[in-house]
Amino acid sequence: MPELTVVDAAPLGVFGGTFDPVHLGHLRLAEEAADALGLVKVRWVPAGQPALRQTPKVSPAQRLEMVRLAIAGNPRFELDACEVEAAQPSYTVPTLERLRLPNTCGAARPIVLLVGADAFSGMVGWHRWTSLFDLAHVAVAHRPGFPIVAASLPPALADTYRERYSEDPGVLRAAPGGRIVSFAMTQLDISATKVRALLSQGLSTRYLVPDSSAAYIAAHQLYSEN
Ligand code: ATP
Repeated sequence: MPELTVVDAAPLGVFGGTFDPVHLGHLRLAEEAADALGLVKVRWVPAGQPALRQTPKVSPAQRLEMVRLAIAGNPRFELDACEVEAAQPSYTVPTLERLRLPNTCGAARPIVLLVGADAFSGMVGWHRWTSLFDLAHVAVAHRPGFPIVAASLPPALADTYRERYSEDPGVLRAAPGGRIVSFAMTQLDISATKVRALLSQGLSTRYLVPDSSAAYIAAHQLYSEN
């Protein structure tokens, strides 16, 4: 994508996750973020080998394919396979550094990293997490069971939150990164953990997982206990 000046560059959303599997909570988060924050696109970045959690139940290539199927046909969504193809642990800061290269997003365009409220509170455990704000803004999606309250965040993150938080999503256009905003989304108490549990019991995940991904799961017999 050609490099633009900050003035005419709408922010690019970046949405990372394990997506094990992708579900409608993820899709609504990305769709509502695009509207609420005025994002030109949302770039989905499935993790290869997630650094901070157990090895996913299915292969990185299969998780990538389920996301590809889920976002197909949405002109605001695009897929970034780099973390999956890297075949090494996935870290957010190096991914953002890659996006900042001139031949991808460049230095000027605002980048907004989209995270759910649970992932945000765990950010202090991320590799080089403080460097993140040199590279991108962070937009925190409300998630059932995870209120966004400075007092309940780890101290280092609470300080960062107070210092960088704005109630005005307009700040996202004013600089390439460095601010934190939050946004309300349709509250969907769906998690990949719950989806995996249903599948392992042979129960329906209809209306929790997009049909295209569900068909892929069925065809490849993923997440079943057998
Ligand atoms: P798991 O249950 O396996 O931990 P998950 O459902 O949280 O998975 P991830 O792939 O870990 O899914 O999440 C990717 C991102 O999406 C994270 O930032 C997470 O906070 C966010 N997210 C996932 N589900 C929801 C939801 N229902 N509402 C809001 N945010 C969500």
